[in-house]
Amino acid sequence: MAHINIEVSAMMKNISLWFVLGLMVSAPAAAAMNVFSCEPEWAELVRELGGDKVSVTSATTALQDPHRVEARPSLIAKVRKADLVICSGAELEVGWLPMLLRQAGNGAVMPGRDGYIEVATLVDRLDIPKTLDRSDGDVHASGNPHVHLDPRNILAISHVVMRRLVMLDSANAVFYQQRQRDFAERWQQAILRWQLQGAQLKGVRVVVHHQDWAYLFQWLGVEIAGTLEPKPGLPTTAGHVVELKNTLAKSPARMIVHAAYQSDRAAQRMSQLSGIPVVVLPYTVGGDDKSVDLFTLFDVTLQRLTGDSR
Ligand SMILES: [Zn+2]
Repeated sequence: MAHINIEVSAMMKNISLWFVLGLMVSAPAAAAMNVFSCEPEWAELVRELGGDKVSVTSATTALQDPHRVEARPSLIAKVRKADLVICSGAELEVGWLPMLLRQAGNGAVMPGRDGYIEVATLVDRLDIPKTLDRSDGDVHASGNPHVHLDPRNILAISHVVMRRLVMLDSANAVFYQQRQRDFAERWQQAILRWQLQGAQLKGVRVVVHHQDWAYLFQWLGVEIAGTLEPKPGLPTTAGHVVELKNTLAKSPARMIVHAAYQSDRAAQRMSQLSGIPVVVLPYTVGGDDKSVDLFTLFDVTLQRLTGDSR
């Protein structure tokens, strides 16, 4: 009898051990925060700061025009379960984000709430129109929203994003703070490297497709010689092409730049007319094979602009 008892109790111990082990294996790790980003650059920044504590999805890829996105049901579903929504703002997503937010009905991520970050409001914006006239094209009334291409903006924004992650997920506060410190240190070193590399671009004249490059070129001291769009967001016209060609004949530019997400048609046409080479820049993370994170995005951009690997 005693013998059996011992065996039974040993068995029970084993069962409870397996039960505990089973729980440990099957218990989900602390649920990661769901982050919905409108653009790849902010998704990457959140990944840098949040590591495995965040599950990040981007509404757009680098090959999509962030001005024009369809508010698909799959995107609405993602906003619905998001703990944090992060977007450029300043009207970049005016054609689709308000609709997504309305349809998702997730109060925690509505503008003004802790779960909503409008990045462009965190930095000094360029190109704020003095007067607003919609006949001037698809003007960004709150200024230029393409703020991520000045790396100093990314650094400033990383502080705000970190603080927001801490606010929403205070259990991991120290984790986010440490990752932000580490990111900021590496980022500041990289900025110095890029500035050194980009010094040769000071005063260089460049034709752009759209004003996506205002922050990048202001930082580098590059001069914008003209835009292929006659007015922001509008396709180029024959008249505008001639006008720009004449301008460039008088004061030439070194290159014609367009983003990976833009058609190269207008740039190639201007290149044929003017003899100025076209340079495609990734614009954001994923814009080409090498731009796999924020660091390589700037590495590639500087390489292309300086001709190091054009
Ligand atoms: Zn724009």
